[in-house]
Amino acid sequence: MENSLVIYNTLTRKKEAFKAINPPFVGMYVCGPTVYSDAHLGNARTFISFDIIFRYLTHLGYKVRYVRNITDAGHLESDADVGEDKISKKAKLAQLEPMEIVQKYTVGFHEMMQQLNALPPSIEPTATGHIIEQQYIAEEIIKKGYAYEVNGTVYFDVEKFAKTHDYTALTGRKLEDLLENTRDLEGQDEKKGRLDFALWIKAKPEHLMQWRSQWGQGFPGWHIECSAMSTKYLGEQFDIHGGGMDLAPTHHTNEIAQNVAYCGKQPANYWMHTNMLTVNGQKMSKSLDNSFLPHELFNGEHRLLSKGYSPMCVRFFMMQTHYRSTLDFSDEALQASEKGFERLMESYQTLLGLTAGKGSADDVNALREKCYEAMNDDFNTPVLISHLFEAVRIINTANDKKIELSAEQLETLKTMYQHFIIDVMGLKWEADNSRTAKVLDKVIGLVLDMRNAAKANKDFVSSDAIRQKLTDAGVQVKDSKEGSSWKV
Ligand code: AMP
Ligand code: ZN
Repeated sequence: MENSLVIYNTLTRKKEAFKAINPPFVGMYVCGPTVYSDAHLGNARTFISFDIIFRYLTHLGYKVRYVRNITDAGHLESDADVGEDKISKKAKLAQLEPMEIVQKYTVGFHEMMQQLNALPPSIEPTATGHIIEQQYIAEEIIKKGYAYEVNGTVYFDVEKFAKTHDYTALTGRKLEDLLENTRDLEGQDEKKGRLDFALWIKAKPEHLMQWRSQWGQGFPGWHIECSAMSTKYLGEQFDIHGGGMDLAPTHHTNEIAQNVAYCGKQPANYWMHTNMLTVNGQKMSKSLDNSFLPHELFNGEHRLLSKGYSPMCVRFFMMQTHYRSTLDFSDEALQASEKGFERLMESYQTLLGLTAGKGSADDVNALREKCYEAMNDDFNTPVLISHLFEAVRIINTANDKKIELSAEQLETLKTMYQHFIIDVMGLKWEADNSRTAKVLDKVIGLVLDMRNAAKANKDFVSSDAIRQKLTDAGVQVKDSKEGSSWKV
């Protein structure tokens, strides 16, 4: 398929022209959430970035099979195979079945992604649904000589693998530095090498989620699930593998090693990593206790927020920075995004109301091309947005009757808006931002003024009747010292 899409590949540390293995099909695997607690806005940033990538590839005509897993077992408290399974631990604390924890947070995650208007992936497989596949790969890696079993746990032999392969290809780090910086961990002395990681972990009798295997009762390691599910649904080699940048040094490095050891193939042609959402420069994370949950943001119930922000405003905020740069989360930044988002959406409504005239000197075709150039340059959404604001300027100037746009120019702008704002950026109209809502606000304000006037004249029959009529229409009125407020 012809296009000039360029993608930054973490593996080669270069921007490369995108060539699908089997066009028009594209296989994309993205590491999904570990469902042991509420997904936060940091997680959302990564998944929204891939949602835009998914949407843009689809817009270019590719048939994308987008696989995003759910980690529902095997992710221990530390990435270095120590601590408890995150889900088992939570289940014990809450005295629930692990699958109740999984269900609760999977539903919550889906709800958040839906609110943020992210498209569902084509397949959303779970680690617990692929135990046999994970056992099989571990077994094959043992057969190939790159893994060994000790007391019911199977470890990947990193140093042996690194003798003949580039174990740190993804990060470009030196193996010696890694070895130097990794301490021998207590209780891990059964490993041959300090970098070895578990493919299968022996379960203590009290461990809540465990399965039978040829090595005894146990559960899979975290990294093996992604090797198993990506190869199962996308084949041994596919186009794109993604996730947050924090996954590259351990999870993805180990995933590549597993795949190469298992079938001799590096799984993905393009490795893509999104940068972190930060708060005051620090990664937003559950463990640092600086995370924002979606409802806190949408309702404004957070100490760092002056008010609530709509899901679309939050989505727009995330696109104003390139996915490979960090994005700092603050009340001021959200306020600025809200204004930008409203200006953009209002100009869409203005555009739909414009009538054709003689035609202006502005080259809207060239502007549309620039939008493609921005997205073709490694999905550069901030540059795309700057071009869309040039379109906003043209539309508003035409609305002020300072220029006229021809029927053809109007058509180009309409398709450009539909394609980039709705299809690719995934923004949509929101009741709160629509003109109808603004008109409603004014009309109810007017009715409340009439009610206040009636009250001032001691005409309580009328003021009570107005209130009752508003209630019947679904508008709840609240009176306080500061005045009357209302909500639908
Ligand atoms: P987790 O559920 O913590 O395993 O994370 C799920 C996904 O969210 C991974 O791809 C992480 O890299 C990503 N992620 C976690 N925290 C952040 C953050 N602050 N900013 C961007 N992505 C994040
Ligand atoms: Zn993964």
